[in-house]
Amino acid sequence: MVSGRRWKNGAAASEASPLALLVIFYLEDTMSDITCPYCGQEQEINHDDGYGYEEDGDYEQGCVECDKTFKYTTSISFSYAVSCQDGDHAMEPFGDKWPSMYGCSKCDFYELREEI
Ligand SMILES: [Zn+2]
Ligand SMILES: [Zn+2]
Repeated sequence: MVSGRRWKNGAAASEASPLALLVIFYLEDTMSDITCPYCGQEQEINHDDGYGYEEDGDYEQGCVECDKTFKYTTSISFSYAVSCQDGDHAMEPFGDKWPSMYGCSKCDFYELREEI
């Protein structure tokens, strides 16, 4: 799992806008992250043609490192995001590192407020 590492050390903070970074974190969070049972190499499941998206079934994939074939099963999880009604947010600044970012303390809503 690499999610959050860049957030903590802030190395990438100057290279992209805060909003873009949040999108990147989101994408990293949702990517499948498995390791080969034989050699431990990190793998990305290949879903070409929709293969492996069904929950009941054994699937197979070859390891990119050791060439052995391992089996995997898929479990699909749903995630929900809740949000206040417009105008009900309790907006607070993210902090000194993100001077233009404001987030709601009650829900996941955030926005970039440009300095005028
Ligand atoms: Zn392997
Ligand atoms: Zn809110």
